Amino acid sequence: MSEYRLTVGLEVHAELRTETKMFCACRNAPDERAPNVHVCPVCLAHPGTLPVINKQAVHNVLRMGVAMDGTLADYTEFDRKNYFYPDIPKGYQISQYQHPLVRGGTLAGVALTRVHLEEDTARSQHTLGKGTSEGEKSLVDYNRAGVPLLELVTEPVIHSAEDAGRFARELQLLLRSVGAGEANMEKGEMRLEANISVSKDGTLGTKVEVKNINSFRSVERAIAFEAARQSAALEKGEVIVQETRGWDEAAQKTFSQRKKESSHDYRYFPDPDLPKLVLSELPECSAAALRAGLPELPAAKRARLQALGILQNQDIAQLVEDAVLSDFFSKVETELDTPELLKTAANFILNDIAGERKKNPDWMPQAAHVVAVVRAYQSGALASPQAKSSILSGTMASVTAAETLPALVAGIIDAHPQVVADYKAGKGAALQFLIGQGMKESKGSANPQALREAIQKILG
Ligand SMILES: [Zn+2]
Repeated sequence: MSEYRLTVGLEVHAELRTETKMFCACRNAPDERAPNVHVCPVCLAHPGTLPVINKQAVHNVLRMGVAMDGTLADYTEFDRKNYFYPDIPKGYQISQYQHPLVRGGTLAGVALTRVHLEEDTARSQHTLGKGTSEGEKSLVDYNRAGVPLLELVTEPVIHSAEDAGRFARELQLLLRSVGAGEANMEKGEMRLEANISVSKDGTLGTKVEVKNINSFRSVERAIAFEAARQSAALEKGEVIVQETRGWDEAAQKTFSQRKKESSHDYRYFPDPDLPKLVLSELPECSAAALRAGLPELPAAKRARLQALGILQNQDIAQLVEDAVLSDFFSKVETELDTPELLKTAANFILNDIAGERKKNPDWMPQAAHVVAVVRAYQSGALASPQAKSSILSGTMASVTAAETLPALVAGIIDAHPQVVADYKAGKGAALQFLIGQGMKESKGSANPQALREAIQKILG
């Protein structure tokens, strides 16, 4: 069934990282455990209250727009999207319709249609009390109501499940790099819907919308499942129904949620309570000003690290994902002039330093110290375990002077005549034992290679 061509367009919602909510002064606190503590008359939609636009949220979306080479709006406004649901206290959601903040742009080779700003809904829980004497009940937590949300829509230009997954990962990376959001899919900070169709003749087939995708792995699996399901149905002569389907994580398949007879009429109209924004009159919202404030973006960082020619793709990915680690690598890089030194430094950073930071996230060694350790290691003055302990302790491991090794080795030889006999009889393990004794005697400060040479020299 490979002759069917898959086409996917994505719609992504990502919570923005801001101090306060989109239209009020309540804290934007995604990790809050207690329900309904970050609420006020504005986000609970009490009569007579008025929303105020969160500048930080507008900035975040514009910065993302610039980072993805989109066209920023000169003029923008907010619209009311009218529908009723308990998680939307006003009876409408404030969103953007005719005048999104950003149009066009690309990310990970995928063309974007638009990026706009809206407010999140509250969080409903429907299964509480199930099986208890109180019976099943639904509760609503309004902490999330009014949290700023970036909505991004791609063109239907993705043709494989892997490319869709790659796009979603790159978007998460970009949101984090720009500081616009954390975008943890498992926490619901980034939510994704995929419009999926298959076709044989180059036209677009009937699209099916798949929701409830909660991880990158599920993005790829849900799309692959739909591609196979739709191709098989068409092959049997069936007609694909335009519908919304959910992704069942446990069963690893999609299921029909509702058939779409017609598109919703949300009766969008500009929100009369909010001012129109003429962004071209705000100097801090110009593309040039926003671009100047961006950090190095993941794609540029990836290309720069690849150009060094010494790092594996996996190492590059690790550095691109961890800004603290990659900044540190850059600092060390300026001090080390050969590919060998740099490769050694990369190994210590990606393994030992990254490993220690997993246990101790605030820890970071001094770049100058790591440079000194790398040079000492490369020159043979420090062995690998000594170099590692030097980096972790922040002080250079003391090294037993080469001149004192013969005396140390002589003592060991005297103490282990049988092992020496074994060594002379050609038993390889005997040499390792003697080196081990030397490391023990020197309390780990001898260079194992130098020790090996001293033993071999004495025993011949
Ligand atoms: Zn509020």
